[in-house]
Amino acid sequence: MFDCIVVGAGPAGSTTAHQLGKRGRSVLLLEKHQLPRYKPCTGAIAPSIAQWLDFDITPAIDHKLRRIRYTWQLEDTIDAVLETEEPMWVVRRDVFDHYLVEQAANQGVTIQDGTPVVDIKLQDGTWTVTTEQGSYGSKYLIAADGADGPMAKWLGFKPEKVRQSYVLELDLPEPIAQPTMAFEFGLVKQGCLWDFPKQQSHSLGMTRFLGDKPKDPENSLATYAQFLGMEATAGHLHTHGLKLWNGNRPLHTQRALLVGEAAALVDPMTAEGIRPAIFSGIQAAIAIDGALNGDSHALEKYSHTIHTEWGNDIQWSQRIANVFFRMPKIGYRVGIKRPTATKRLGQLLAGEIRYADLANRVIKRISGSFLPGRDN
Ligand SMILES: Cc1cc2nc3c(=O)[nH]c(=O)nc-3n(C[C@H](O)[C@H](O)[C@H](O)COP(=O)(O)OP(=O)(O)OC[C@H]3O[C@@H](n4cnc5c(N)ncnc54)[C@H](O)[C@@H]3O)c2cc1C
Repeated sequence: MFDCIVVGAGPAGSTTAHQLGKRGRSVLLLEKHQLPRYKPCTGAIAPSIAQWLDFDITPAIDHKLRRIRYTWQLEDTIDAVLETEEPMWVVRRDVFDHYLVEQAANQGVTIQDGTPVVDIKLQDGTWTVTTEQGSYGSKYLIAADGADGPMAKWLGFKPEKVRQSYVLELDLPEPIAQPTMAFEFGLVKQGCLWDFPKQQSHSLGMTRFLGDKPKDPENSLATYAQFLGMEATAGHLHTHGLKLWNGNRPLHTQRALLVGEAAALVDPMTAEGIRPAIFSGIQAAIAIDGALNGDSHALEKYSHTIHTEWGNDIQWSQRIANVFFRMPKIGYRVGIKRPTATKRLGQLLAGEIRYADLANRVIKRISGSFLPGRDN
């Protein structure tokens, strides 16, 4: 019998497992894929995660980016530079995620990959987790199975919208001379295309932040790849769900918690999900440890912490996204094109400011420039 079983070895699951292992708890981490595994993602990470980690994360960072290029329908180019002390980090998800799994293993966590969980049952205060390889028992359970996993539904949570999203991975024969992150607005309705280059590859991402599925995503990605000087046919296209944050909801139930994207914690303006996955993993471990120590409100406190520390600020990101992606042309003109836009982005990623600090100004500026009857 384990103290806790964690389902899913992404950043949320590995972080929870690592933190519980460090507290002397017995943990089983179950992952359906063989490890290391790739997760469809463009792999940009806010350097502010370093403040929460008690190990050196630098070996898992592929590259750091300062240069940014924005375009509106592949024209009207803006070049900018992130001026924060620490630039944006980019990672290869197979490397980064496996590094986190290794940190968990170093804390005595039992890891079993190639082991899909197929059923869960709570009886007499004990979870039985059934996999294709056999069953395991635990006192507590963590759902860290991401946007496409079944756990939230099995635990009885209301389903969240899952947005189909796309990543085109393109490996290059030579290292990239001047890697520049790039964002394209206007080519995808109510969404965007972006590129986070690694040392020797590009990861092009695409999603719609509002509305339904994008029309002809392959064509949009191919057009953008060509604009950036590459042929989409040379790459690999991956699709994956994306669960954007959509309001504070309880993230706990009887003897179980949702973490990371299983809890729909992804930033609705930027699709940033790794930072909240790690943050929620740390908070979940604190909660499970507290519950094992007899705190009967520990799981409830977890939901409260995620709401106050993440959701309450992310609601402002959602409000900006609702205005920006409805009027992207104005948003580009009066928001992105301002030199302060990149400065604020850097400050947000560094954790120096929060969305609440700028949302009202941004929303007013975009809405105030809207002229009815004009092609805004
Ligand atoms: C197109 C796209 C681009 C993105 N770009 C970025 C970005 O640049 N920066 C950023 O911060 N975020 C980005 N994200 C979001 C980010 O990838 C996720 O939010 C993040 O991976 C969530 O981490 P997680 O640990 O919660 O889940 P995941 O990383 O999804 O891990 C869940 C794990 O659970 C496993 N699993 C699922 N079902 C089962 C089962 N039944 N049994 C056992 N294991 C199971 C899966 O195999 C997986 O390994 C992007 C997402 C998409 C779709």
